[in-house]
Amino acid sequence: MGLEAALSSDTFLTTQLQRIVNWSRKNSLWPMPFATACCGIEFMATACSRYDLARFGAEVARFSPRQADLMVVAGRVGIKMLPVLQRIYQQMTEPKWVISMGACASTGGVFDTYATVQGCDQFIPVDVYVPGCPPRPEMLIEGVMAIQRIIENEGIPPRGPDGKRIPLGLTVAPNVRVKPQPVGLNVGR
Ligand code: SF4
Repeated sequence: MGLEAALSSDTFLTTQLQRIVNWSRKNSLWPMPFATACCGIEFMATACSRYDLARFGAEVARFSPRQADLMVVAGRVGIKMLPVLQRIYQQMTEPKWVISMGACASTGGVFDTYATVQGCDQFIPVDVYVPGCPPRPEMLIEGVMAIQRIIENEGIPPRGPDGKRIPLGLTVAPNVRVKPQPVGLNVGR
């Protein structure tokens, strides 16, 4: 927004103003869902009434990158889609953030093939990884909250001395306890 450059950071008034700016940014994330597969359906569920992403101010999904500041990569990324992903990321407004949602977006998942990108973090800076196949809506919300905490404390994303964006690379821990199998598995016998 240009406020950081216009104002010095060592006065009481500026400190308080910075907190207001961070609070506003934190509570008005506009996601750009790059939804290519089933994780996209889970994103839709997260935005619907049962999980209600609106409680976190992040329900205004935008399909115009210039109106979005939070990219959610939800699903596998094909090699042919990669230039589109990068173009959309470049067109998004600053400061911008990226969530890699699900195994496919983060690692290629079970699609260990030449046609599937084996992790979108090789091509765009990922701030938060949300594990799962698919992640439950609570997990995605946890990822959004992780971004919100960073915005509240840090304000804008970190950059290196060369001006390049430094990906935060945080991972949301699974919030479910896996139940034991009800019967023994005898695979391969
Ligand atoms: S991680 Fe699982 S649910 Fe998500 S896109 Fe891949 S296969 Fe589908």
